[in-house]
Amino acid sequence: MDETALKKLKDWPDRMCQGTDLELWFGPSDDVPRELRETKSEEVFRIRTAKAVCAGCPIKVECLESELTQGIYNQHGVRGGKTANERQQLIRDRRDQVVAERIGEVA
Ligand code: SF4
Repeated sequence: MDETALKKLKDWPDRMCQGTDLELWFGPSDDVPRELRETKSEEVFRIRTAKAVCAGCPIKVECLESELTQGIYNQHGVRGGKTANERQQLIRDRRDQVVAERIGEVA
């Protein structure tokens, strides 16, 4: 996705995460005291909630694609209905698919 398309995506007025608390998408800041950090069950609930918001977002597909162009090491939080780990796996799967197709072309 080119820079213009990315800017358009960020300015998209219909995105469901517009105006929501960033903590929903990225979790509590690393600066918070240990006793205020989220528990595993709180994290699971937060991620499920974020994904539910994404599920109703009209630009979910475009959002996910734009995140995947950011590279494997630039994935943070829930975006496009997927966690950072899930997007990293998607990037690896696509990369593996490209390699497999190239090997197939040579063979
Ligand atoms: S898919 Fe989710 S993270 Fe992406 S713009 Fe929509 S609500 Fe925001």
